[in-house]
Amino acid sequence: MTARPLSPPAPAAAPAALRWTHRFASLGPAFFTEMPPAGLPEPHWVAWSDDCAASLGWPAGWREPGFAGAGAPPALDVFSGRALWPGMRPLASVYSGHQFGVWAGQLGDGRALWLGELHTPAGPQELQLKGGGRTPYSRMGDGRAVLRSSIREFLCSEAMHHLGVPTTRALCVTGSALPVRRERIETAAVATRVAPSFIRFGHFEHFAHHGLPDELRALADHVIAHHYPACAEAERPVLALLGAVTERTARLMAHWQAVGFAHGVMNTDNMSILGLTIDYGPFGFLDGFDPGHICNHSDERGRYAFAAQPQVAWWNLHALAQALAPLVDDDVDALQDALSPYPATFSQAMTGHMRAKLGLLQAEADDAGLIDDWLRLLAAERVDYTIAHRRLCDWRPAAPHASGGVRDLFIDRAAFDAWSARYAARLDHEASQDADRAARMRRANPKFVLRNHLAQAAIERAEQGDFAETMRLLGVLQRPFDEQPEHEADAGFPPDWARHIEVSCSS
Ligand code: AMP
Ligand code: MG
Repeated sequence: MTARPLSPPAPAAAPAALRWTHRFASLGPAFFTEMPPAGLPEPHWVAWSDDCAASLGWPAGWREPGFAGAGAPPALDVFSGRALWPGMRPLASVYSGHQFGVWAGQLGDGRALWLGELHTPAGPQELQLKGGGRTPYSRMGDGRAVLRSSIREFLCSEAMHHLGVPTTRALCVTGSALPVRRERIETAAVATRVAPSFIRFGHFEHFAHHGLPDELRALADHVIAHHYPACAEAERPVLALLGAVTERTARLMAHWQAVGFAHGVMNTDNMSILGLTIDYGPFGFLDGFDPGHICNHSDERGRYAFAAQPQVAWWNLHALAQALAPLVDDDVDALQDALSPYPATFSQAMTGHMRAKLGLLQAEADDAGLIDDWLRLLAAERVDYTIAHRRLCDWRPAAPHASGGVRDLFIDRAAFDAWSARYAARLDHEASQDADRAARMRRANPKFVLRNHLAQAAIERAEQGDFAETMRLLGVLQRPFDEQPEHEADAGFPPDWARHIEVSCSS
């Protein structure tokens, strides 16, 4: 009798939370270039979000050796681009787009690599490295991301998520001593982003502009099948898709305006087909309320000024519609119809947010006037947007001069008193209860947002090799509506030096 040959033990199966699929890759090579990342030398951890990891179904020990199975490389190597976990399939996608209103031609993932998607408790999620080296779409760029901008993207993605604003998320940032030249010499980092998909308006524009209707059709079919399945049931699915993207984008813009977020570089290649906030670069949260605020130092004409965002998004949706035209036999009227709900959807969503911020439960016809006049009041004196709303939570009609400290924010007290008298009448109309309203308003008016100076302080410490401030700030921003009295300083007025922080496209 011959002995049965000994077989080596089966490799430890990857945990269920690490089974990769590649639906985007199944579109085929016209859509991307497969290539490995160029990793960071001697990487170290900068920051990580266990909350984001948990959303992937990963346990607290996800950064420890062995997480991806015996013998698999450690997370630090994977998320600095030095190694891959079994099943990952890195690729850079091609897209085009309009930058500052002008056709910019082919762009693409110049420094981002899609790794594949995981099936998580929250549905499929793609993971993407940003800063993992040059790709065929890097043009003049070096394929790198600097520590400064990676920390900004990491903190803001997670902050926006916890504010309830649709966004790509951030799993972690790794860093290294690798020098990177921007306006000054900085060091390289890699941020790992997470989203159901990183497809942009610019992906559609790419195939439309290059006269590739089959690829354009395949892309639309892919997005409909995997991300907008309800549109597949419609009589004209592509028009339904455009309608759905229009709706999500309108809602996203209302949400940005309501939290006082300015993106800074709303090019069509920075617009998510899923209506997510994507590509955090020269963004900023408003300090004093200035509708004309331009957060991107490179945006000389203010195309992407705070108050312009809803209009710009609509412009961008028209570029998307134009790209979809070949799929609907150039039926321009039908495309126009699909776009047409945008203004009403935006203003309804905006009024909804502002009602919540003012603690109003019922909708009344002249609410828009009350809201507009409140914003005008804030704008007239550049009153701090976040602080004014947070203080308004504790304002009471019975003590209009001495509750919550909101009145003290205005030099023109008479103007505030005139408005607050109308507000009081409005509250009375719906028999508003002070305590209930205050509690409700604190869920709609964050105490903590990622002001530039907070990010800047964390970055300066990180550039000295101390990442504790980045992680501390992450913890604060994960609970933006909670009082957190121990972090009062993060909820204060910006220091004078904050006015001189310049953020540009350089990242
Ligand atoms: P952004 O303004 O960051 O959205 O980038 C616009 C385009 O430039 C995209 O195609 C990016 O991938 C690309 N890009 C930006 N920075 C770099 C870089 N350092 N290396 C390569 N490509 C880059
Ligand atoms: Mg971009």
